[in-house]
Amino acid sequence: MENINKSRRDFILKSSMGLGAATVGMGTLASFSNVNQESKKLGIALVGLGYYAEILADALQETKHAYLAGIVTGTPGKEPIWQKKYGVKKENTYNYENYDELSKNKEIDIIYVVLPNSMHKEYTIRAAQAGKHVICEKPMALNAQECQEMIDACNKAGVKLSIGYRMHFEPTTQEIMRIAREKEYGEIRYVNASAGFRGNFNSDHWKVLKKYGGGAMMDMGVYSLQATRYATGEEPISVSAQDLSRRTEKYEAEETVTFQVQFPSGAIGNGHTSFYEGVNHLYTKAQNGWYTLDPFSAYRGIKGDSSSGPLNYPVINQQAAQMDGVAQSIKNDEPMLVPGEEGLKDMIVVDAVYESIRNGGKRIMLS
Ligand code: NAD
Repeated sequence: MENINKSRRDFILKSSMGLGAATVGMGTLASFSNVNQESKKLGIALVGLGYYAEILADALQETKHAYLAGIVTGTPGKEPIWQKKYGVKKENTYNYENYDELSKNKEIDIIYVVLPNSMHKEYTIRAAQAGKHVICEKPMALNAQECQEMIDACNKAGVKLSIGYRMHFEPTTQEIMRIAREKEYGEIRYVNASAGFRGNFNSDHWKVLKKYGGGAMMDMGVYSLQATRYATGEEPISVSAQDLSRRTEKYEAEETVTFQVQFPSGAIGNGHTSFYEGVNHLYTKAQNGWYTLDPFSAYRGIKGDSSSGPLNYPVINQQAAQMDGVAQSIKNDEPMLVPGEEGLKDMIVVDAVYESIRNGGKRIMLS
C-alpha cells in the first residue's frame, strides 16, 4: 500500500514540477497559430502592472516553457522601468487603448490578466478575440454569469483559458487533493479552511470597493472555498454565510465572511476569510484520520501533516510552476490543469455566499 502511494506521490510531484503530464478537468480547443515548435518558450504579456504582476514577472525569470515577452499598462511611467528591469521590448509594450493590437504580435502567445477583478471579463474576452491564450487571475470575474461569458468567448476563439489558482501546481497541495480523491482515510466528515490577512487599505482602494469586485470573499475567500472543495474532492450542494465585518464604517465591501458548505457525501465545511486578521489553515477530518496544511495558500512554505505523519514535499516557485504548466498544456495541446470551468465553479458558490448574506444567512441550495 505504501509503495503504491509512494509511486503515486512521485508521479504527482513530477507533474507539479513540469516533468509529467497531469491533466484534469475540461479544457478548451487549442489554437496553435503562434506556437511554432515544441521547444519554444511561449511569450507571456502581463496586463496590469501592480503588486501581483511583479511577483509573476520575477517568477518568469525561472520558467522553462514561458518568458515575459510583453506588458500592458495604463501608467506610462512604468513602461521604461519594466522594459529595463525585465528586458521587455518597446514594441511589445502596450496600453489599454492599443491592447487589441496584440493580435498582430507573434511574440505574444499568452495574455495574463492581472487587473482588478471587475476588469477580468473585458480583458479576457478581448484577449481571446485577439487570438491569444489567456490566464486570468482569481477570482475569475464578478459573478458566475461573467465567467460563463469568458469561457464561451475563449471556446469561440479556439484559445485556451486558465485561472491563476497556483495551489493546483504545488506538490503538498496536490498530495492533499490525491488523499481526498482516493479517500485514503475513509469517508470525509469535516473540513475547515481559513484564509485572511490584516489589510490596512485606504477606503478608496479597489480591494474594498464593491464595483471593482472588492471584499474579503472575492480576495482570500476563494482560497478557503477552493480548499474545502479540493480537500474533500466534492462540490458543495448548499451554502450559508455571514458577514462578520468589524470596520464597516471604513470599508464598503465586506471585511470578514464565514460560510458553511455541505457536500453530497454528508461532509460539512467551514470557511473563513478576512482582511482583519492574518490566518491561513486547512484541516480535514475523515473517518480514519486527518490531514492538514498550515499555511495552505502562502507563496512559500506550504507545510503538510497527517495522522500518518508529516507530508514532506519540496518548496517550489508556485507561480513559475503554474505558468510552465499552462505553457506546456498549450504546447502539447492538452487540457488546462486549471481551466475556466474551475473559476466558474467557485463563482457559483461565491454568488450564493452573497445571496445568503443578503438573506440573513439563509441556506442556499446549489443543486
Ligand atoms: P494591484 O492594485 O496591486 O494591481 C492592479 C493593477 O491594475 C495596477 O497596476 C493598476 O494600475 C491597474 N489598474 C488598471 N485599471 C485600474 C483601475 N481602474 N483601478 C485600479 N487599478 C487599475 O492589485 P493586485 O494585488 O496585483 O491584484 C491584481 C489581481 O491579481 C487581482 O485579481 C487579485 O485577486 C489577483 N491576485 C492574485 C494573487 C495570487 O496569489 N494568485 C495574489 C495577489 C493578487
